[in-house]
Amino acid sequence: MKSQATDSMTRLRLVVTGAVQGVGFRPFVYRLARELALCGNVANDSQGVVIEVEGNEATLEEFRRRLQTELPPRAFLNSVEACYLDAVGYGDFQILHSDDDGPKSALVLPDLATCPDCLREVLTPTDRRYRYPFTNCTNCGPRYSIIESLPYDRANTTMKIFPMCERCRAEYEDPANRRFHAQPNACPECGPQLALWTPAGAVVATRDEALRAAADALRAGQVVAVKGLGGFHLMADATSGAAVTELRRRKRRGDKPLAVMFGDLAHLEQECELEERERRLITAVESPIVLVRKRIPTAVVPAVAPRNPYLGVMLPYTPLHHLLLRSVDRPLVATSGNLSEDPICIDEHDARERLRGIADLFLVHNRPIRRHVDDSIVRAVAGRPQIMRRARGYAPLPVRVQESLPPLAAVGGHLKNCVAIANDHNVFLSQHVGDLETVQSYRAFVSVLSDLSKLYEHTPIALAADLHPDYLSTQFAAKSGLATVPVQHHYAHALACMAENEVEPPVLAVSWDGTGYGVDGTVWGGEFLLIDDAGFTRSAWLRPFQLPGGEAAVREPRRSAAGLLGATFSGSGWQRYLAADCFTEAETRAIDQMLHSSLNSPQTTSAGRLFDGVASLLGLVQSNCYEGEGGMQLEFAIGALRSDERYEFTVDEHETGREIDWRPMLRALLADRDKGIAAATIAARFHNTLVEMIVTTAKTAGCDRVALTGGCFQNTYLAERAIRRLEESGFAVYRHQRVPPNDGGIALGQIIAAARALRKEM
Ligand code: ZN
Ligand code: ZN
Ligand code: FE
Repeated sequence: MKSQATDSMTRLRLVVTGAVQGVGFRPFVYRLARELALCGNVANDSQGVVIEVEGNEATLEEFRRRLQTELPPRAFLNSVEACYLDAVGYGDFQILHSDDDGPKSALVLPDLATCPDCLREVLTPTDRRYRYPFTNCTNCGPRYSIIESLPYDRANTTMKIFPMCERCRAEYEDPANRRFHAQPNACPECGPQLALWTPAGAVVATRDEALRAAADALRAGQVVAVKGLGGFHLMADATSGAAVTELRRRKRRGDKPLAVMFGDLAHLEQECELEERERRLITAVESPIVLVRKRIPTAVVPAVAPRNPYLGVMLPYTPLHHLLLRSVDRPLVATSGNLSEDPICIDEHDARERLRGIADLFLVHNRPIRRHVDDSIVRAVAGRPQIMRRARGYAPLPVRVQESLPPLAAVGGHLKNCVAIANDHNVFLSQHVGDLETVQSYRAFVSVLSDLSKLYEHTPIALAADLHPDYLSTQFAAKSGLATVPVQHHYAHALACMAENEVEPPVLAVSWDGTGYGVDGTVWGGEFLLIDDAGFTRSAWLRPFQLPGGEAAVREPRRSAAGLLGATFSGSGWQRYLAADCFTEAETRAIDQMLHSSLNSPQTTSAGRLFDGVASLLGLVQSNCYEGEGGMQLEFAIGALRSDERYEFTVDEHETGREIDWRPMLRALLADRDKGIAAATIAARFHNTLVEMIVTTAKTAGCDRVALTGGCFQNTYLAERAIRRLEESGFAVYRHQRVPPNDGGIALGQIIAAARALRKEM
């Protein structure tokens, strides 16, 4: 168990890039740390500046806040990646002298949100860049989305087609200028320009007139496809029910929530309740989408995020977005410019083809986007940021790991795909690719992997892939001609969480998600894996149940409900417990047959499907939904209710491990429902029971460190309560911070697993 001293002590590591060398940054960090009585160190390295400070979390947050607000005048932060780690017991604070002879790994910066200086110029009528949407400087602007090859020079970016005018060239060559060597430097005279197109390709307007006309169209309720930094957005007036409903219908988006862009923080706060932590995430240099609570009432129409207390919000991150939002003067839906699960469009001609039936107008420009980069998504969980989608603002910054890795690549999973390459202590995670469900997204996957390898001149000695033989990513690896290391899905989740927290085995990983291929060929998803140096043992799991219809259950929680009931009641007894009208009579008969014949009805231990099934039984969601909606609706059902009540469950000892029997819980839950007890109460009791399953299992696993990983831990109630209850019981708890708990994080775990497998072979 952790000692008292380390309970209150945490280590915060910040890796910052930007104008931080030779500007008095390290002495500033030193003074700030001493003032707050924090121990640790600061050092330059090939990635920028690495700061480590130890103390209690509140003081560390204070340090982090002041680091960004009290910067020395010439310093500027391009990225700040933060990670909480176990304390190591520093005795003082030191400036470490860096070994400048060390190898400098070329670092590609992420795309950077518009800096305050550039924004001021764009809004100043007398400035030569007044209302110029492509204004940027050394401190801001496009990077990753325009680089064609390294080194990062204008000739190696998509800006090479715009020769700089004399004035821009002079700025670029003047070491005292803010635009010294700003590769995408441009002005209205020499740089890219806007145009507004009809779906047929006719030019409606150009330059500033195009922007104003697009703003008028948005105000009039039209859908406009806007070419931004890393791809197209589909935008519409977020305060117009008709506009949002029409966008949803055309995009075939179901009820999946849409992100909203606000003109500035003040407007955002009128519609959303922000905690200090969330305010900082929203205004951070990475400028991600942040999930925050809506105010009630709000001018943002319910159709933006139906039956959802949260809203994904962001601020403008290019001058184009700043100008557009100011002209429209109301919040805009800003959703990926794609059709359902395809990757976002980056080219205006392709966009006109693919988004033809969706957008009324196309606001485009002639600066080519080299690679797609989606908006990132972040939320605050138990007081720390947790990334849910890692893309713009973060990609392709490496995640530094403790062990030295051979050159390896990982192809990721199937849903929320993301690939990775590794070299030495760095794992370069690609931007979010998406679900490999369509030809378009599979193509994007292939090109992102080859692009990342080319950019870093990386030749892998082996490819790590999921154990699932049917994943397109796995099949790609098998056909690559390279050695392939298969990695069990939930083991990859566990190693990803351990790697970013720099925690060594043994660790008990609670790896809960929708689905993953188990080593026994069944569908896993409710696993407790004991991780040691050699690999993992499956120490416990949720009792398996059937998924009638297999894959169809992902979008139909009612099928999971049938599976849960079928495992609990004999014969046809299960049918009477279904939620009202959830199947037709014929469907019920077909499902009954599947359950009893086991045809097309695989066994699963999936926690995600358990959530889905219970959501269906409570009548919250039945079919045609998006992956994870069942769990979300169940979490939202709790609302503001706080209770410690829970249901009973039992644990069966098997020869190979412990099986957690949730059937007593299900029976009690159904009895509650049939008594008319409120859904909020039942949902809270259900979540609390799952948390106690985790605590009970952790207590019997003989390991004092617990990692929480897998898509289920995107559920804030589950994650926060599990963290609190485990910590109260004396466990050290590790959760995701910089890589997503969902399948967007597994490429990192695959890399670590492959490195371990190769070491064993040697
Ligand atoms: Zn700037
Ligand atoms: Zn110019
Ligand atoms: Fe997963």
